Amino acid sequence: AISTKDLQRLFVLIADDIAANRDHLCELDGVIGDGDHGLAMDAGCEAAAKAVGALDPAQTAPTAAFNAAAKAFLNAVGASSGPLYATAFMRAGAAVKDKSDLSDDDFRRAFAAMAQGIQERGKAEPGEKTMVDTWRPAADAALAPASGTSLSEALDMAERAARQGSEATRNMTAAKGRASRLGERVIGHIDPGAASAAIIIASIAKFAR
Ligand code: ADP
Ligand code: MG
Ligand code: MG
Repeated sequence: AISTKDLQRLFVLIADDIAANRDHLCELDGVIGDGDHGLAMDAGCEAAAKAVGALDPAQTAPTAAFNAAAKAFLNAVGASSGPLYATAFMRAGAAVKDKSDLSDDDFRRAFAAMAQGIQERGKAEPGEKTMVDTWRPAADAALAPASGTSLSEALDMAERAARQGSEATRNMTAAKGRASRLGERVIGHIDPGAASAAIIIASIAKFAR
């Protein structure tokens, strides 16, 4: 089962992987956006890891840990990704309300709730060249196997779907966010938010292995 202590480790893993890709994500955003996506995600993930790490795991349920991550992420980020990931973490917390330890199925539900939260907060549909193109197929893949499937197996499938979804944004024009103003000029370039989502989902899959 997954405890708040495990979630502390998860948020550090995510922060480390995003930090390692910070400059790459800024470069992607520099092409079709304003160039700050790596800085935004790095600041947000670092703040979330710190906030969750500061909690006493013996006294804090997973829901409260996700809420702390949400608040810290939102406060640290002044870009579109701030409210999107804050909503994702809040929804993950709400999906596992009143549980002190998460089963593999609980965690899969929390993962899928993140995708749903991002989609509802930003009102983007798949195909609009956003992080939803990564999160939606990943959540669907994570939920597809029967209840009781091991978490690592389900999240390995999610990781593959995320990578494909992120890659697929290359051929899209954007209907949401800054890139939507650039029309056909964004074709040929991966969406930065889709790319960072694939990194985060890979971190989550690594956590479950
Ligand atoms: P900003 O554009 O405000 O600088 P970021 O650079 O942090 O914000 O994030 C840009 C990313 O946010 C985009 O690449 C896209 O994936 C995502 N994004 C933008 N608008 C939306 C939306 N409405 N729904 C989902 N994702 C979005
Ligand atoms: Mg940006
Ligand atoms: Mg910005």
